[in-house]
Amino acid sequence: MSEFDPYSRAVLYVVHYAEIGRKGRNRPQFESGLVDNLKRALAPLAECRVSRVFGRILLKLPEHVNEDRVAAALNTVFGVAYFSRASTCETNLDAIKALVDEFLGERNFRTFGVRARRPEKALPLRSSEIAIELGTHIQERTGAKVDLSHPDLWIELHAMNQQTILIHEKQPGPGGMPVGTGGRAVALISGGIDSPVAALSLLRRGVTVRYVHFHSAPFTDTRSQDKVRDLVRRLAVFQGPADLLLVPFGPLQQRLVAEAPASPRVVLYRRFMLRIAASIARRHGARALITGDSVAQVASQTIGNLDSINRAATLPVLRPLIGMDKAEIIERAQALETYAISIEPDQDCCSYLMPRRPSTSTRPEDLKRIEATLPVDDMVLEAVRATERERIEPKA
Ligand code: ATP
Ligand code: MG
Repeated sequence: MSEFDPYSRAVLYVVHYAEIGRKGRNRPQFESGLVDNLKRALAPLAECRVSRVFGRILLKLPEHVNEDRVAAALNTVFGVAYFSRASTCETNLDAIKALVDEFLGERNFRTFGVRARRPEKALPLRSSEIAIELGTHIQERTGAKVDLSHPDLWIELHAMNQQTILIHEKQPGPGGMPVGTGGRAVALISGGIDSPVAALSLLRRGVTVRYVHFHSAPFTDTRSQDKVRDLVRRLAVFQGPADLLLVPFGPLQQRLVAEAPASPRVVLYRRFMLRIAASIARRHGARALITGDSVAQVASQTIGNLDSINRAATLPVLRPLIGMDKAEIIERAQALETYAISIEPDQDCCSYLMPRRPSTSTRPEDLKRIEATLPVDDMVLEAVRATERERIEPKA
């Protein structure tokens, strides 16, 4: 490497992944998904060089990279269980002692433990002998005591043929599975507080999410659409550029108002939303829908109404918030930084043509009877055809 190569004094990170490690034959696919997502998340900061070492991922970033921004970026990559800065040296005992001295530098600690691993057999010493050598060296140099259960500082190193890697303090990552490894789903996103939080739960399980929003423009203003764009920009930080599908729902709502009774109207809206979303999902190869329902939060989310609504679905409807309190959901929305966007005022399609007294208990047979008088398939197809697609770029 030339001395002008910014990677010759690279800043190193080791990424630890948890669940992926247990995936057996699928492991290469999970690892390469994680590597792609790490590169994408770090791309705005620097080009990162990636290699695999002892079941972890080693990231090499150029010398002057902003470490706070690296940590923030790593916290958006699902599949990262922990990460840590790291440093390396040649694999020989003198070089390792010098590396450890440099690491100890200004660190204050009264107790320490050494964990040495020798995945390749470059050093003639056994792992336990390396640990003892280093333990004695550190004790002599600092006066600190060995504690192998809860030390102030762990010194963890992996001695391989080419190099020895020293792991610095571990920081927890966001956990979960790499986005792109868990299939595809379509999230129904409303501009409210709950649906972005629901979508994030599935992103965290590795699912690639596309977003569908139903609006009543031009009968209402377009604020709900602007809100949803902002929400998806934020969610895209965790998955990369994402598709947003905007469905004009007003004409269908007007027809239901003219031809169906008022009290089950919201349940009818929801049944049509699920049908339209499922049809869009199929066109995108997605095999599930995601909603932000939580039992008893509003009239349409009683167990009875959830049953009536769910019967219109031809794909599984994932409802990750179903048993959560509003306060818990708000806490998550704040952590995700979508809360402030969600509480901005808008004209949701559900405030348009909303009955005064929505029913809290509908019967599936009644809904079927009402819908039997309507050209359901055509109504769905018309809405799908009028849907517009946008590509939304991430915004931190
Ligand atoms: P949210 O805060 O997500 O709007 P909510 O508590 O207001 O949820 P509802 O308005 O009854 O509950 O909506 C329940 C779920 O139905 C939402 O979480 C969302 O997944 C979906 N949904 C409701 N309205 C829309 C819409 N206009 N476009 C897309 N999905 C919607
Ligand atoms: Mg809502």
